Amino acid sequence: MKKNKKYIEVAVALPVYKTFTYMAPEHLVERVSVGKRVLVPFGRRKVSGYILNIAADAAIHAPKPIFDILDHQALFPAVMVRLFKWTADYYFFPIGLVIKNALPGGLHTFEHPSTAITPDGRETLEKKILAPMEYAVLQKLLAGPLSPMQLENAIKAGLSEPVVQQMLNQGWIANVRILKKDRVRAKMQRYATLLNEKIPNKNISAPRQKIIDMLSGEAGLAVSELKAAHPGAPALIRKMAEAGYVSITEKRVFRDPLGELIESKPPPVPTEEQKSALATIGGAVGKGFSTFLLAGVTGSGKTEVYLRLARRTLKQGLSVLILVPEISLISQMERQFRERFGERIAVLHSGLSAGERLDQWQKIMSRKVEIVIGARSAVFAPFDGIGLIVVDEEHDTSYKQEGTLRYNARDIAVVRAQQQNAIVLLGSATPSVQSYHNVQDGKYTLVSLTKRVAQKNLPDITTVDLCGSRDNKGVRRYLSKELLTALGETMDRGEQAILFLNRRGFANFPVCASCGKPIQCKNCDITLTFHQKDNAYRCHYCGFTIPSVSKCPACGSANIHQLGIGTEKIESAMTAMFPHKTTVRMDRDTVARKGALVKILKGLKDRKIDILVGTQMVTKGHDFPGITLVGIICADLSLSFPDFRAGERTFQLLAQVAGRAGRGETPGRVILQTYNPDHFSIQCAQNQDFQTFYREEIGFRKTLAYPPFSRMVQIKISSKNRQKGNQQAQRIGKQARDLIGTDPLFKKNILIFGPLESPLTRIAARYRWQLLLKGMHLSPLRDFVQRLLFDLRSDGPDRAVKIDRTKKIDRAVKIAVDVDPFFMM
Ligand code: ADP
Ligand code: ZN
Ligand code: ZN
Repeated sequence: MKKNKKYIEVAVALPVYKTFTYMAPEHLVERVSVGKRVLVPFGRRKVSGYILNIAADAAIHAPKPIFDILDHQALFPAVMVRLFKWTADYYFFPIGLVIKNALPGGLHTFEHPSTAITPDGRETLEKKILAPMEYAVLQKLLAGPLSPMQLENAIKAGLSEPVVQQMLNQGWIANVRILKKDRVRAKMQRYATLLNEKIPNKNISAPRQKIIDMLSGEAGLAVSELKAAHPGAPALIRKMAEAGYVSITEKRVFRDPLGELIESKPPPVPTEEQKSALATIGGAVGKGFSTFLLAGVTGSGKTEVYLRLARRTLKQGLSVLILVPEISLISQMERQFRERFGERIAVLHSGLSAGERLDQWQKIMSRKVEIVIGARSAVFAPFDGIGLIVVDEEHDTSYKQEGTLRYNARDIAVVRAQQQNAIVLLGSATPSVQSYHNVQDGKYTLVSLTKRVAQKNLPDITTVDLCGSRDNKGVRRYLSKELLTALGETMDRGEQAILFLNRRGFANFPVCASCGKPIQCKNCDITLTFHQKDNAYRCHYCGFTIPSVSKCPACGSANIHQLGIGTEKIESAMTAMFPHKTTVRMDRDTVARKGALVKILKGLKDRKIDILVGTQMVTKGHDFPGITLVGIICADLSLSFPDFRAGERTFQLLAQVAGRAGRGETPGRVILQTYNPDHFSIQCAQNQDFQTFYREEIGFRKTLAYPPFSRMVQIKISSKNRQKGNQQAQRIGKQARDLIGTDPLFKKNILIFGPLESPLTRIAARYRWQLLLKGMHLSPLRDFVQRLLFDLRSDGPDRAVKIDRTKKIDRAVKIAVDVDPFFMM
């Protein structure tokens, strides 16, 4: 029996938390399917939404009919509806916006007001003598409706509001709402095919003959290709098509983001450890949900394990999703997968243009590929039969998205695997405390790789106390004798070095020499960073920039000292000290341009770069055999963060960057400079000793009841108006304290901290407060947040924010919920 597709569940792309039932009118019923976008009435608006479900019956009486179905093909498979619902629920985020966030950008339709000519207007234009302005307006609108802005631009003399109003009153023109077209279109290419080889050949021009020669024997050639051979080809082809000799068709083309040709290589023989990892994990492929933690030291060959597991998964007819924390690593991972699997791969990340992302997305939807490699948002790749999800460098904080939908892709990956009966493999040399704890709890299975492949040793790490160089001048305060000696030796041997410093710019602490005041951002409570290349001061939080000729804002003195360090200062020191070597910097400033990053990585690989100076970007999983020295300029920068994960993050960063050294034939060396040589995170990193680090750290977390022994939700309140923001923050604080008393379960489980001003009290001109909720168990904590912030009425149009029920929150105040927060400042 055919399913009745009359009633559908729709999530609208608006900030509402519920889904709604609509009805598909007779003429649209056939086209209904889950994953397509629809146009629906919502209040007095027309909005787009997504079909989530087809219901046998209407859940409500007489649902409203939809206006239209916007897609020919679904944008996501039905199995993903559960994942979207889970994400919306867990992160307290509107379901329609979760989906919008997950889909490639540029697909969305909005309404925007326009003015159109009416039939009356057309008649008037023909029959009446009009004032020049009236004539011009009607004339312009003949071609189609225009937005107020477009209309104004079209009327040269300047549009007069009363005239428009009068024309509206006359009924010559009307205000209409137009749906904005998709901004991104699939890229189509025109192809020409010869229909008739026997074209009468008298009087054939030379260009025409050339085109016929090119086309004959071909199944079809791109018109662009013909045009390259002969510029007049498009016009000629059109004429030939009119005469019936040629047919022109349009085909979708797929853009390849990196577009490099890759040759296949025979895979290496797995090491004993890799074999045993493969036996354990491989045996589970296709047998339902399970989670593995692959803890393998840097250079132990985790990627080879992924590759072989992927092969096994594909053999069972299931697809593979590989998540990688940074765009810079995607190209490396992609390359290795392409060597093994050729064209069966799609790539998804924010470095692609909207069009490229759409292409990749549709390739996945139409099952042209079975492997997706991508950054965090690729966790929503539209696969239906998924067998394996790999989260590489699972400890990496890039998996946590800040901003709008605050989610952790690693956590969603585990949920997705569970929903789709897949296995999930979390890989890292420095597993997160959270994941390792899950191993201890028996939730995850631990698989270890303890040795580097091919008997390569882990690098030798020397710690240098930076206090010893405190009295040095300028940049030499940060470049110890030991580091400079090692650098010199490395350069003499013709090897490569990485210098890591987790701070961009030239100097992060510009201070006025006359009055002693630091140069601060006007929008944030942060000192500006001096960027030598741009000759400007820049704020790393809001982008505020002033030219460097500026005088001290406090006293007007032009004498400003560039204190503090950044990657730019180290870069210029290296260029000065090693003028015959090539120093390149890799940080967010130098890789902003498309293609810049790939160029740096290629330069490293081809050994055109001798010294690479960079931020945490350089610490991540890269595999460059020529690097024999890693210098950590200042290991302490991340230790001082007001965040319970500071120690964990420091350990991970240091152990990871150290792991970049000595991956080739020559053994590697690491010089770790620090002001805190006795700190346990630094000592454990020096010994590459995750076990000791974990034991120490987990004890500390337990004593203070921090995650993983508790769950956290942070409520972030911000406003440009300090007083209103503060009032709202205090109000939520009071409501939270009142609420806790209403339920013994709350009282027993939940602790409230704050509201407090955030450590960064002002960013981008917004004042910030935070309220931290800590729960010993997840479920009461979630109930608490729900009750605190959202209305529980089930009949309402949505779960409106509760706080504005009594007193409307000022529009100037923003409230955001951050579940499992990372950025606590
Ligand atoms: P990890 O991600 O664990 O740090 P990689 O996966 O980058 O390590 O592997 C390190 C290097 O070892 C790579 O160059 C890889 O090609 C190589 N490799 C991996 N497995 C083997 C193997 N079984 N035999 C030889 N080389 C291998
Ligand atoms: Zn001054
Ligand atoms: Zn700023």
